[in-house]
Amino acid sequence: MKVLVAGANGQIGKQLISYIQESESLEAKAMIRKEEQASYFKELGAETAIVDLEDDIDTIAKAAEGMDAVVFTAGSGPNTGPDKTILIDLDGAVKTIEAAKKAGVKRFVMVSSFDTTREAILNADSSFAPYVAAKHYADVWLRDTDLDYTIVHPGKLTNDEGTGQVEAAEKVERGEVPREDIASVLKAVLENDSTIGKEFQVVGGSTPVQEAVKSL
Ligand code: NAP
Repeated sequence: MKVLVAGANGQIGKQLISYIQESESLEAKAMIRKEEQASYFKELGAETAIVDLEDDIDTIAKAAEGMDAVVFTAGSGPNTGPDKTILIDLDGAVKTIEAAKKAGVKRFVMVSSFDTTREAILNADSSFAPYVAAKHYADVWLRDTDLDYTIVHPGKLTNDEGTGQVEAAEKVERGEVPREDIASVLKAVLENDSTIGKEFQVVGGSTPVQEAVKSL
C-alpha cells in the first residue's frame, strides 16, 4: 500500500514515515514543503513530493496520484496565528481531502484534535477555539465524503518515548500520549481496514497498539 503523508516533516510525520518504511506491506511518499527536508526521507528510501499546503488542489492531487492512502498529519502549530490555522488546519486539510478524491485515492486517515465537537469549540478559550473550529470543520468535511476515512483524535501529545500501549475508543478520559505511539496507531490504522468509517480518541494506556486498533 502506497501512502502519501501530508505533514511528513512533522514530529509524528517523520516517525510515521520511518515505521511505514520498516513495514513490508506499506511504502511512504513524504509530502514536504522544502527541498532541504528531503534527505531524511531519501535515506529511509521514501519518495518525496515538494508541496505547500497553501498550494492549490491540483498540485496536491498530483502528489497523491498513484497512492492508495493519504494520511493528514500537518498542522500550523502554536507559533502562528489564526490566519494559518484557517489556511492549514482547515483549508489545507480540506484541499488534501479534495485532492485525494481527484486523484482517485479512497483511503484517508486524518489526525484530528482530541475533541472536535461543537461543545469543544464553545468550551475552548479564545486562543484555542479557532484551532478547534478548524479541526471540527475539517472532520465534518471528511465525514461527508465517500472516502474510506478514519479520524484519529489524539490526546495531548508528548515527546516521551513510545510505550507501544494506548487506550483507544470512541470516548476516553482526556490524557497525554507520546507522538511515537500516535505514529504506531496510524500505521496500525492503515493496516486494519476494520477502522474504515470510524473515529476514535486515543491516549496513553495499557493495551498494545495493534490490539487496541483491532478492537475498535
Ligand atoms: P508538527 O511537528 O508541528 O508538524 C506539523 C507539520 O505540518 C510540519 O512538518 C510542518 O511543516 C507542516 N506544515 C505546516 N504548514 C505547512 C504548509 N503550509 N505546507 C506543508 N506543510 C505544512 O506537529 P505534530 O506534533 O507532528 O502533530 C501533528 C498533528 O497533531 C497536527 O495536525 C496537530 O494539529 C495534531 N494534534 C496535536 C495535539 C497536541 O497536543 N499538540 C493534539 C492532538 C492533535 P514544516 O516541517 O515544513 O514546518
